[in-house]
Amino acid sequence: MAMKNGGVSSGGLIVSFGEMLIDFVPTVSGVSLAEAPGFLKAPGGAPANVAIAITRLGGRSAFVGKLGDDEFGQMLAGILRQNAVAVDGVLLDTGARTALAFVTLRADGEREFMFYRNPSADMLLTPDELNLDLIRSAKIFHYGSISLIVEPCRSAHLKAMEVAKDAGALLSYDPNLRLPLWPSVEAAREHIMSIWDKAEVIKVSDNELEFITGSDQIDDESAMSLWHPNLKLLLVTLGEKGCRYYTKSFHGFVDAFHVKTVDTTGAGDAFIGALLCKIVDDRSVFEDEARLREILKYANACGAITTTKKGAIPALPTESEVLSLVKGA
Ligand code: ADP
Repeated sequence: MAMKNGGVSSGGLIVSFGEMLIDFVPTVSGVSLAEAPGFLKAPGGAPANVAIAITRLGGRSAFVGKLGDDEFGQMLAGILRQNAVAVDGVLLDTGARTALAFVTLRADGEREFMFYRNPSADMLLTPDELNLDLIRSAKIFHYGSISLIVEPCRSAHLKAMEVAKDAGALLSYDPNLRLPLWPSVEAAREHIMSIWDKAEVIKVSDNELEFITGSDQIDDESAMSLWHPNLKLLLVTLGEKGCRYYTKSFHGFVDAFHVKTVDTTGAGDAFIGALLCKIVDDRSVFEDEARLREILKYANACGAITTTKKGAIPALPTESEVLSLVKGA
């Protein structure tokens, strides 16, 4: 079953493809999943966070993916709608549940995960179910790698990318490595890299750079080993240290903003959402270093603000919040 409605914001359309799910996080910190006395629902899934990051900044986005036709799926679709994300590409599956992830940071600093995806609705999206008209209307098509883990979603992902590309969309890739979801480390690396050469914008975190290159060096040389001829912009985000950027003609570093960090969930999604929002109608940034640096400063501010509140979606900033942090700095 497909959903209907449209966004109300402005600018070229950014279509974000992939998973939307609910993270269950313990009500108290520093406990194992088994010890947690209770859990709070935190809506998430990186591609959905990116779609909401864009509309919150005044841009126009659509989310493409599948949810379970259950209370949680309806709740998540409602969150997309409340945030003016177009849901014409969202499907509801009557035979599978919305994905759930129980996540905790134990006292020993280890993250513990437990996923309810056996299979969840997002994994069951088929190529035939895609809203191709919506995908063809995208100026930018953005995706991660979780949708590559199993079929039929992997084929749906590959088809959506191809249709978007043929229609002239810029392809944007944030691998968002979630190793526990993959059958093996090798499978993760192989599938993440299988679509590497298609993307024109790629954003990786420092940890992902280490994983992909297999080296613990976070420097220009290791970043440039990921370069490919179709790439227009490569970004390496460095948490509280800011980000590095690489294009065909120039590269550099943009410092982060200093804020009171509470929870870093969603910082990378806010960062890439902000960048896409700014470049969707202005491709000059790939040749204009000063303009790119200005946009990355804005994206860093978005990432920083997102760390100042718990959860990803509630913490995503509006344009005026970002501008006041940028001006105040
Ligand atoms: P990811 O969430 O993908 O791991 P990062 O943690 O690198 O991505 O965050 C993305 C961007 O958000 C960073 O480049 C930075 O600008 C900003 N950011 C992240 N964490 C902080 C922090 N603790 N303080 C200030 N800015 C941050």
